[in-house]
Amino acid sequence: MRKYGLSKKILVTGGAGFLGSHLCDRLLEQGHEVLCADNMFTGSKRNIEHLSGHSRFEFMRHDVTFPLYVEVDEIYNLACPASPIHYQHDPVQTTKTSVHGAINMLGLAKRVRAKIMQASTSEIYGDPEVHPQPESYLGKVNPIGHRSCYDEGKRCAETLFFDYHRQHKIRVKVVRIFNTYGPRMHPNDGRVVSNFIMQALRGVDITLYGDGEQTRSFCYVDDLIDGFIKVMETMDDFTGPVNIGNPSEFSMRQLAELVVELTNSRSKIVHAPLPPDDPRQRQPDISLARQTLGWEPKVKLRQGLERTIQYFEQLLGAA
Ligand code: NAD
Ligand code: UDP
Ligand code: UDP
Repeated sequence: MRKYGLSKKILVTGGAGFLGSHLCDRLLEQGHEVLCADNMFTGSKRNIEHLSGHSRFEFMRHDVTFPLYVEVDEIYNLACPASPIHYQHDPVQTTKTSVHGAINMLGLAKRVRAKIMQASTSEIYGDPEVHPQPESYLGKVNPIGHRSCYDEGKRCAETLFFDYHRQHKIRVKVVRIFNTYGPRMHPNDGRVVSNFIMQALRGVDITLYGDGEQTRSFCYVDDLIDGFIKVMETMDDFTGPVNIGNPSEFSMRQLAELVVELTNSRSKIVHAPLPPDDPRQRQPDISLARQTLGWEPKVKLRQGLERTIQYFEQLLGAA
């Protein structure tokens, strides 16, 4: 441990993004020094501008596909575009970000003997045949499809984490994040929660893809960040992978109807084509997180959506 007391120097890659910026806030609240490294591909200055001038916060424009030499105690590796339109924009760069990014951050962890957490994803389960998905489920992923750059990149990153752990005794933690939403989501990244809210607030048609019966389980961002912190605090023999998400499952039709209700919108729900490889169902089995971390989500979808709608209202007001 560096410096004084329990304060650590912590690197957050992708720290100017949606989840990363909330994590930076939380770590600063806990008294740590935070180094945020981000190439600003999908990150936003707005997400971290309230931290500029904070004495324990430092921003560094950096692409994780290049080596990074810094001295830190812990690393949260979040750098990677997360929404299909962003990660499919330059799929080769997406795979490089996951794979080369993991190698560089693990190399850094090895040199400075830091503990390192990887933001993995429920997408590593692909279009699952097992429902809900426990960590032991190995997944059904198309290696050559439109989502593969993301899914396979993240799977390879998990492989690297476990090989660095076995081969170099690096202290690793792998978290499989399920769909998360909340303030600071990108308004235009095509993800369902931001799309529906923006469409409802603008009074334009709400685009329900396919028959709308496909399901997702949405976790509010504050709950997810609680999970990250708990995972990082586990004993060194706990590596995960561990699912972090909210098991309450909703169909996209139910979500659309709830957003219309909460925004008092006049928008109509219309159907649009289903994107390729769109998983039919997704729900985390969080038994492991409950048992080992004593963690479970607290924020209900309605409550979390209300807070998220408020954020998007402010964003539209400021535009
Ligand atoms: P985001 O796009 O808001 O954040 C990702 C951040 O990484 C951005 O700030 C972006 O600029 C940065 N980045 C991208 N490529 C980079 C590179 N090569 N070098 C440095 N920085 C780079 O997305 P998010 O929702 O905050 O996701 C954060 C992490 O969590 C990602 O790794 C994502 O795969 C994972 N995840 C998120 C969700 C979710 O529902 N939000 C679900 C599963 C996994
Ligand atoms: N690396 C880094 N920061 C460090 C140490 C290493 O970015 O502080 C990068 C380095 O460029 C290397 C990668 O991490 O390519 C993997 O490092 P490792 O020590 O595992 O392998 P090697 O250096 O033998 O390739
Ligand atoms: N979706 C939708 N309308 C939209 C955006 C997405 O019906 O405007 C659907 C999409 O087809 C998928 C679900 O919502 O079934 C979640 O999509 P998202 O891109 O948010 O996340 P992911 O598919 O990566 O879980």
